[in-house]
Amino acid sequence: MRVRLWSWSAVVTQILQTGIAFDIGSLGSRELVRLFHEASSYVQGLAVEIVRDQGIHHGMEKIMAILVGIGSSMPTIRFLDSLEREKQVEAIAHELAHLLLIHRFGLKLIRQKRPYSAGPEQNSLTRLSHNGFSLLGQIGNTAHHLILVDYLRERHAIGSDLHCRLLHRHFLFFCYRSHMLTKEAREDMESLYREGIIAFEYGKILGRFEGVRNMLYQMDFFRKAVRAAETHFGKYCLEALPTPSSYEEDVLSLLRDLGYEREDFVL
Ligand SMILES: [Zn+2]
Repeated sequence: MRVRLWSWSAVVTQILQTGIAFDIGSLGSRELVRLFHEASSYVQGLAVEIVRDQGIHHGMEKIMAILVGIGSSMPTIRFLDSLEREKQVEAIAHELAHLLLIHRFGLKLIRQKRPYSAGPEQNSLTRLSHNGFSLLGQIGNTAHHLILVDYLRERHAIGSDLHCRLLHRHFLFFCYRSHMLTKEAREDMESLYREGIIAFEYGKILGRFEGVRNMLYQMDFFRKAVRAAETHFGKYCLEALPTPSSYEEDVLSLLRDLGYEREDFVL
């Protein structure tokens, strides 16, 4: 039996619930309003909702905002009301930038064409972790983040302190936990792949590769994912924005390097 590193977080469940329509103009950020108009010109029916924070954190607070209904007629950004004003601006801007990368720049989400052919573990690729992302979701997220942080800062003068803080916290928490993993957890391939992808992002965005390298020799799956991400996403940045086709090739090649059949996925 495989054991998850972390389980589905109640925070995700909470924030997925319906929120209340929110006027982003009330935050007093012209930069955010400009970004919202930019995103709205590419995404129809875009809505922003605020969700009451019921104080459910389960030790982590990765999910402060979430994008639901991507590809539907009403994609909606939901965020917790407990965030400070400037963090609300950052959180909403972050999700708007994800939408722009998908709809304006063609960096689409990855989906499985059919259940992973390995059989009993067929849901492992899309199984959600405590931070609300599956391995597939994390691959797309990390590729986006390598561009998104600079995009927000350079084009809209909006920082990503919240994202960087949560990334740092996640990495430290994983380092701490990694010394205590059970045998089953050390064999939980998708979870360790996902952590490797996050660690790569941590090293690239925060420039702290030493911390990641110190982790490399501890777990095979973790090391494999860090190296695959370095190989295929290592050059990603705002100045080197991938084309939709090169991005697709990079994502599928990364999945192949992790041992999956590229034909099983579509973007
Ligand atoms: Zn993100």
